[in-house]
Amino acid sequence: MKIGLTCFMHESNNFIKKTTPLENFKDPSFGDFLHGDHIVDHFRGGNHELSGCIDEIEKQGNTFIPKFCGIATPSGTVEKYAFDYIVNRIVDEINKDEMDGLIINLHGATVSEEYLDVDGEVLFRLRNKMGSKFPIICTLDKHANISTKMFENADILVVFRTCPHLDTYDRGVEAAKLMKQMLNNELRPTGTFIAPPMMINMTKQNTFEEPVSKIIEDMEFLSNDSSVVSASFALGFQFADVPELGASFIVYTNDNSVLSREKCEWVSSRAWKNREKYNLDAYEVEEAVKIARESRESPVVLNDVGDNTGGGSSADSTFLLHEIVRQNVENYCTVFFDPESVSMCVDSGIGSTLKLRIGGKVDAQHGSPVELEGKVINITDGTWEDSQIRHGGYTKYNQGPTVLFETQNKGSIILTSLRQPPQSIGQITHIGIDPSKKKLITTRGVILPRPAYDPFAAKTMLVNTKGTTTADLKNLSFKNIKRDLYPLQNPSFQPGLNEV
Ligand SMILES: [Zn+2]
Repeated sequence: MKIGLTCFMHESNNFIKKTTPLENFKDPSFGDFLHGDHIVDHFRGGNHELSGCIDEIEKQGNTFIPKFCGIATPSGTVEKYAFDYIVNRIVDEINKDEMDGLIINLHGATVSEEYLDVDGEVLFRLRNKMGSKFPIICTLDKHANISTKMFENADILVVFRTCPHLDTYDRGVEAAKLMKQMLNNELRPTGTFIAPPMMINMTKQNTFEEPVSKIIEDMEFLSNDSSVVSASFALGFQFADVPELGASFIVYTNDNSVLSREKCEWVSSRAWKNREKYNLDAYEVEEAVKIARESRESPVVLNDVGDNTGGGSSADSTFLLHEIVRQNVENYCTVFFDPESVSMCVDSGIGSTLKLRIGGKVDAQHGSPVELEGKVINITDGTWEDSQIRHGGYTKYNQGPTVLFETQNKGSIILTSLRQPPQSIGQITHIGIDPSKKKLITTRGVILPRPAYDPFAAKTMLVNTKGTTTADLKNLSFKNIKRDLYPLQNPSFQPGLNEV
C-alpha cells in the first residue's frame, strides 16, 4: 500500500498587523520548501508527526510518498498568495494513481486573508478531488480551533494530546496505524464532534497541571476503551479570531455512531462543568520581577505571556526588560529578535563595547526600545540541535546569526536574526550561557518553554504582559465569533447543539 504524506502548518495570530508571506513557509536551512525525499532527510529520526509516520509506515512494510511540506513559525494572517500557492500545490500533487491514502499534517488554527478556516478549506478541496472513499487522515496541533468543515472532510482527525506538545511523534504513528486499518478494510471510522462554547485561557493550557489534566485523564480513560478507535481534545487558540474558536472533542468508534456520540457527550460535558477554572491566572509585571529579584533561590524564570513567540508574537517585547532595568536586577538573561542590533554587534566585533536600542522594533504593540550599553561577548550562526523531545517535536533549530551582549551588571542579552520560539534551552546555552548560574531568566511563551527551562528553574512564573498574545481577553476585540462563548458571555451548553 502507498500512503501520501503532506504538511501545511501555521498558527495564525489575527491580532498581529503584519501578514505572513509565502517565503516564511520555506525551511530556513534548506532555503526552499521541503519536498519529496528532502522531507524524509529532514524528519527521519526526529520527533515530528512526520517522523512518526515515516517510521510506522516503514515498519508496516507499506510505502510512503512524501510530497509537499510548508511550515512557518507562528505569526500574522497568511497572505492570499501564500495560501493559493500552497493549497494548489498540495491538491495538485495528491492523486489516486500514485497512492491509496493520505496523511496530512495541518495545524488547525491557520487563517488566511481569504479564509478564516484554512484547514477546513484544504481538507474540503482534497476531499472534493479525491472523492468520499479515499482515506484521508489529518493530524492537528493541540491548539486547533476545529470546525465542522474540518471534521466532515477528513476520515479521522488526530489531535496532539499534550501541551507542551511532546507527543507529536506518537500522533504520527497513531495516524499511520489507523491508515493501515482503513486500507485493510478493518476500520470504518465513525465520529462525533462536539465543541462546547468555551475558551481555555492560554495560562491554563498546561495538560500536565490542573485543571486541564483532569480532562486529559478523561481522554486517557476513553482512549483505553477498546470500543474507541481514536479520541481527541483540542484546546483552541484564542488569537485566531474565527467562528470556531474554542475547545472541542472528537471520539471515533468502528462504525458505531451511537457509541461515539455517547462517549463524546460524556467527556465534553465533564469538561464544560469546570469552565470557571480555565480563566486567566498570571502575575503582573512589577510583582513578578520583584519576586524574582528577592528570591533566595535562582534562577526564577519569567514567562512573557504577551510576547508568546510560539503564538505568533514579535519576540522583541520590552515590558519585562524595562522593569528589570528599573528594579536594577543583576545577572539576568533574556532573548530578543533584533536583527538590527545583531548587525551592529557583528560589525563592531567580539570584545567591542557599544550602546544599543534593544527590542520594541517589530510593531507598536510590544513596548519601546531599551537603551543599554554593553560588550559583545560572543557571535554564532544561531544553529544547534536538540535531540530531546521538545514542544512540536523539532530537533534542528536556526535563529540566524546570534550575538551575546552583556551589560555591566551581568545582564546577558541574546540577540537573534530570526524569530525562534524558546522550546530548546540550546537557544541560550549554544552561545555560552549556563542557565543555572543566572538569577532571572525571561522566556517568550506560556507552556512551550517549560520542558526546556523548568529543569533549571527554582521557580517558573507566568507574567501577564501586554502584547499580541495577551492572555487577558479584555485586551482582544473579537469580530468573527458568531456564538456566545464563555468567558466572553455566559452561554448554556447542550451537547449536539453547539457544533461550529
Ligand atoms: Zn500548539
